[in-house]
Amino acid sequence: MTNSSSVDAQMNDEGNTSRDLSPREFHDFAMQAVEWMERYLEGNATLPVLPRVAPGDLAAQLPMSAPERGEPFATLMQDFEQLIVPGITHWNHPGFMAYFANTASMPGIVAEMLIAALNNNAMLWKTGPAATELELRVVDWLREAMGLPAGWFGFINDTASISTMLSLAAARESLDLGIRERGMAGRADLPVLRVYTSAHSHSSVDKSAITLGIGQQNVVHIEVDDNFRMRADKLEEAIRIDRAAGLRPLAIVATLGTTSTSSVDPVSDIAAICEREKVWLHVDASYAGPAALIPEHRHHFTGWERADSIVVNPHKWLFVPVDCSTLFVRDPDTLKRAFALVPEYLTTREQSYAVNLMDYGVQLGRRFRSLKLWFVMRAFGLQGLRQRLQYQMDIAAEFAQWIAAAEDWTLMAPAPFSLVCFRYAPPGVNDEDADALNERILADVNAEGSVYLSHTKLNDRYTIRLAIGNLRTELKHVSVTWEQLQRAAQAEASGPR
Ligand code: PLP
Repeated sequence: MTNSSSVDAQMNDEGNTSRDLSPREFHDFAMQAVEWMERYLEGNATLPVLPRVAPGDLAAQLPMSAPERGEPFATLMQDFEQLIVPGITHWNHPGFMAYFANTASMPGIVAEMLIAALNNNAMLWKTGPAATELELRVVDWLREAMGLPAGWFGFINDTASISTMLSLAAARESLDLGIRERGMAGRADLPVLRVYTSAHSHSSVDKSAITLGIGQQNVVHIEVDDNFRMRADKLEEAIRIDRAAGLRPLAIVATLGTTSTSSVDPVSDIAAICEREKVWLHVDASYAGPAALIPEHRHHFTGWERADSIVVNPHKWLFVPVDCSTLFVRDPDTLKRAFALVPEYLTTREQSYAVNLMDYGVQLGRRFRSLKLWFVMRAFGLQGLRQRLQYQMDIAAEFAQWIAAAEDWTLMAPAPFSLVCFRYAPPGVNDEDADALNERILADVNAEGSVYLSHTKLNDRYTIRLAIGNLRTELKHVSVTWEQLQRAAQAEASGPR
């Protein structure tokens, strides 16, 4: 039999890779990683935003099984640089202007390191007192800074998709249909539940309906006006028709900053309908919400204070590393009624007077995400954040002006924030040919490597999107992009098809 001291001696042996790094090793390795990050963040503008790889390239280079013996950090770092980085799409690149561009700012990156070191799991107040209290406070800072009145309960989820799903689950719970207890299947007493949202809302609304058993076909996509905003009259009509058919309106999801064009639904009109119809109003401001930090842009948000729930993603347009989605609910008890479930092993003395964040959603364990929001809000200050957001809106507006002034180019939608939708539309080229032309222009520009733009379809026409949201994007990057677009358009329009 081995005695305990020899067991320990074996575990502490230098070559034993079942132990963690020594403090010295940790320091050296962490410094190497930090130095790499520093070089990367300073120099990544020289890398192609889109990696020049094909599906399967990395997979072909990875061993099929995990190593039996632990490997030194130097080897890991080398493989990181040689195998992984070449396959990275550089979201943290000033030329990333696709989808909704975002940023892991340096304060946020440092916070992520500290979050990992603490490895806090704030499922209960007791398992994360500071993480719980910081989360509630820092999200409330954001609420106040965006001009929302006091009285909301705000907390953090990973993504807007989850925040929206939780909101619709709370809406469902608010109907007191006993769904939490008895489910929905096989119940003749349940009405068909309907969710209304614009034809331009994000697919996460449909996914929520799928997840919650509401059914995708019960998501009613309301027609939009010429500026891609939900038509309140069509919404009223849809609700009227549904009620007459015995269907039960559950919730309306209004979007402030839609994915395709960043259009703004008329939330005041929609709120009035919700109040009259007694239907839950969820506001998806996951991209545009931070613009409300700037008083001059608050008019876009008028009426959102009448919602039952609002989602805003600091990981989209507030320079916080992915993932960080804040959800504000007016009545946290309804959400708690939908989700709180406390098995014996999670009971605590404090549960009657402290917030246990596990009560407000599906997940039990939760990352200490508030630390990165706190670091970012404090390092930039509201003033710094406003200044950067305004700058990004200014350079987007400048780009929109170039498009508007250019002969063969056309703006495809208003640009209220930092997203511009446009297309090359020379006279004499029919719509279908122009679609193909724009697709090729986008592919050419993206292949050059210095920028990455994405696309959508508006009124069935292929549309290029330029979204500014990276902290290091400057006017010069937008200007280079414009030159590339014009060059690609010339080449594609005159070259062989
Ligand atoms: N809502 C809107 C308006 C979006 O644009 C997006 C994504 O871009 C989402 C929701 C989903 O966000 P997430 O990736 O955080 O789930």
